[in-house]
Amino acid sequence: MSNWLMRFLDWYRRFMYGRYGVDKLSVAILIVYFVLYLCAQIAHSYILLAFSLVVFLLCWYRVFSRNIEKRRKENEIFMKGWRKVETWVRTTKGRIRDRNTHRYFRCPNCSSMLRVPKGRGKICITCPVCKKEFIRKT
Ligand SMILES: [Zn+2]
Repeated sequence: MSNWLMRFLDWYRRFMYGRYGVDKLSVAILIVYFVLYLCAQIAHSYILLAFSLVVFLLCWYRVFSRNIEKRRKENEIFMKGWRKVETWVRTTKGRIRDRNTHRYFRCPNCSSMLRVPKGRGKICITCPVCKKEFIRKT
């Protein structure tokens, strides 16, 4: 490695000491910034451009923040929401894929999603999560 690069990395390490750093939320905010920036360019909107800049600064504010505990909590909340979105996308994909062979019901007791083969007529379904039985037409 060249000398200046070593010195830069050394400076960077000292600069980042006690600071939060990059997490998934920061990456997500950066992606939002890119989208906003592109929209601003397409729409020739200065308001959108200013807004995208605020989002951009917010991202770096989090990366260089010394309030590590607070940033970690923010990321946790974001990841919780993100996982919900992922689950929704996965189940929706599944529902589209086997819409001819299966039906989906929500348990009336614990509201878990249940997958049942189609064309069995009226059947008694037992929820695998809470063991509640309910009757549905498949
Ligand atoms: Zn249930």
